[in-house]
Amino acid sequence: IIDVKNLHKNYGHMEVIKGVDLTVRKGEVICIIGPSGAGKSTMLRCLNGLEQASSGQIVVNGHDLGDPHVNIDQVREQVGMVFQHFNLFNNMSVIDNITLAPKLVHKETDEQAREHAMALLKTVGLAEKADVMPRSLSGGQKQRVAIARSLAMRPKVMLFDEATSALDPEMVGDVLEVIRELAEDGMTMVLVTHEMGFAREVATRVIFTDAGVIEEEGTPDEIFNHPKSERLKTFLSKVL
Ligand code: ATP
Ligand code: MG
Repeated sequence: IIDVKNLHKNYGHMEVIKGVDLTVRKGEVICIIGPSGAGKSTMLRCLNGLEQASSGQIVVNGHDLGDPHVNIDQVREQVGMVFQHFNLFNNMSVIDNITLAPKLVHKETDEQAREHAMALLKTVGLAEKADVMPRSLSGGQKQRVAIARSLAMRPKVMLFDEATSALDPEMVGDVLEVIRELAEDGMTMVLVTHEMGFAREVATRVIFTDAGVIEEEGTPDEIFNHPKSERLKTFLSKVL
């Protein structure tokens, strides 16, 4: 569903991604781990066109992002993204946050959008919060609304960039639980995460990046129990 070939990304003279190849197949749950500054966020942002690749090819669901004729908005609809800092619209109720884009972009009727939103709120355990304003939610609840809002566009793949790292520890579990359920339902996902336990449990494949390259990749067992490269061993000794 996503095919990345020899991706390079520079900021000015600084090369942040130095030749990454990555294929994401339907139903895969890929966890990207690696030290700060490794280029994880940049890589994710390239996948939905938030950043433009300096060179290389990114094909998402058959659309080549480098093709000037490609409709980037259409591609983004198919790629949901959840960030570290929930960016809900604070002047709208929870349900309006979720139904806005489906109504505007997919021309769903009020009723269709509302029905779907309520189902999604139930999935994330917040059905009773439909009509409240975001400011009255906890961080974990906001993040779950952000996930529901992303899902409302019926994406083919979901990207998560440290979706739990800005949360208080006691909120992390609820959000991870929602992500885990999505994985069980077969959602294709790419997650940048510092939650090693979660990656070990949920990932179908783990990718260790360092200094703009994929240093090592494999099953959770291979990465966490049988790391090969010294850099991965060092990284794991710090985070585990
Ligand atoms: P972290 O774990 O801290 O989130 P990361 O692996 O996500 O790190 P990136 O955010 O992708 O790392 O950043 C990789 C490098 O690119 C860093 O050195 C960062 O300073 C640089 N960088 C990121 N975004 C920009 C930008 N918009 N302009 C210039 N440099 C940038
Ligand atoms: Mg980052």
